[in-house]
Amino acid sequence: MFIDGEFRDARSGATFDVTDPATGDIIGSVPDGGADDARDAITAADAAFAAWSTTTARSRSDLLYRAWRLMDERAEQLAELMTREQGKPLRASRAEVAYAADFLRYYAEEATRVTGEWLPSARPDQRFLVLRQPVGVVAMVTPWNYPISMLTRKMAPALAAGCTLVLKPAEATPLCAKAVFEIFADAGAPDGVVNMVTALDPKPIGEVFTTDPRVRKLTFTGSTAVGRHLAGVAAGNLKRVSVELGGHAPFLVFPDADPVRAAKGAAALKFLNAGQACISPNRLYVHADHEDAFVSTMVERVSNVRAGNGFEDGVGVGPLVNEAAVAKVAAQVDDAVSHGAEALVGGTRLTGAPFDRGHFYAPTLLAGVRDGMTIYREETFGPVAPIITYDDVDELLDLANDTNYGLAAYVYTQNLSTAITAFEGLRFGIVGVNDVNPTAASAPFGGMQDSGLGREGSHEGIAEYLETKLGGFAI
Ligand code: ADP
Repeated sequence: MFIDGEFRDARSGATFDVTDPATGDIIGSVPDGGADDARDAITAADAAFAAWSTTTARSRSDLLYRAWRLMDERAEQLAELMTREQGKPLRASRAEVAYAADFLRYYAEEATRVTGEWLPSARPDQRFLVLRQPVGVVAMVTPWNYPISMLTRKMAPALAAGCTLVLKPAEATPLCAKAVFEIFADAGAPDGVVNMVTALDPKPIGEVFTTDPRVRKLTFTGSTAVGRHLAGVAAGNLKRVSVELGGHAPFLVFPDADPVRAAKGAAALKFLNAGQACISPNRLYVHADHEDAFVSTMVERVSNVRAGNGFEDGVGVGPLVNEAAVAKVAAQVDDAVSHGAEALVGGTRLTGAPFDRGHFYAPTLLAGVRDGMTIYREETFGPVAPIITYDDVDELLDLANDTNYGLAAYVYTQNLSTAITAFEGLRFGIVGVNDVNPTAASAPFGGMQDSGLGREGSHEGIAEYLETKLGGFAI
């Protein structure tokens, strides 16, 4: 754990092990913190707030620039650690580290652009001044699927705004989190400005984060069920809340799309991080006229995706995070097949050496998916591409919007009117039009409905950590 400028053990002295999901090997151990440790970290963050929030924007920017340079210098070792701890292919880990570093650089820039306003007043002798100030101590809870970038996406804007913070990383990936805090320590973050508590059982920490009056904001990325619970408790205590939750992304191949290009995009997108992403496409809607071209391209692409240890060359899909994740994927596929879907590629767990030591599911292509199957509505978080064939294009947006989620959607069309109509009509926070990677540090990321509240990245991302204060001055 990292509290008040030093790496520390848990008060109880307890630790827990971290394993490699590809091999089951134990690769490290970290402190198993509890409620007392979380309170110690909040005490440190609270004590550091007065000084940090009143430093100049330029000095906060400088800290983020130093952290960015260190992350860039350490990129290869961070990527290797990520592949070992989280399992994604090394190439994908490198891409994530670059994405994570981008948040440090972007908010180093944005730190110096927080401004106020001088507004028209109600009386001739009055002046209105609007000041934007940091909200205070921020509690952060992060997931295991993107174990470095999900930290910098929260930490960088909070620090740029002048907040201090306490972060609890996911229990599956605390080593990546520790490496991020080593960067901030080496970059010279003042004591207490950034703090981290690791724990095997997140509940007591979540309880402290949502009830301690010194915490002014909670930001969470993870499942909808946990996010809903934590946001509810935090909101009950009138803390600010941002939550980035699950998704069930539709991928719409319109009749005026190029089906081969769309299939190539879908195959590239679906297997990123073994499908363990909240913006992973979960419903591929293909017009009947394009079915043959789309499906045959997908079959060829998915058949060529190799599963295995992320350190091996040519591996496109690593292990899933744990056994429960494999069981969930298997149950969804089995349910779909028992209701009439067909597994054109994959459709099974991967067994035998070397897969038995880790948690692997075969890259899978399902055709004939329909409403009524579990996979049609539940998030999969696995390497399964479900194809739904449709006939009536006028119903397509309604089909896509028929979900409680609202994070990402994808559209393939070559017609500008179709693109604009779909962009406007989809009830999702992020829409990729002929684009399978609509994310960047400069772009607002976030969802509607059960996919969350608030945005991360872009100038909107820093606003989540700022309060507005109005000054009325009589002269
Ligand atoms: P997933 O099912 O993808 O693991 P979770 O929502 O369970 O997603 O986990 C995301 C993050 O939320 C992790 O850091 C996890 O430890 C944390 N978490 C889970 N339950 C709680 C809780 N009750 N209080 C605080 N954090 C929690």
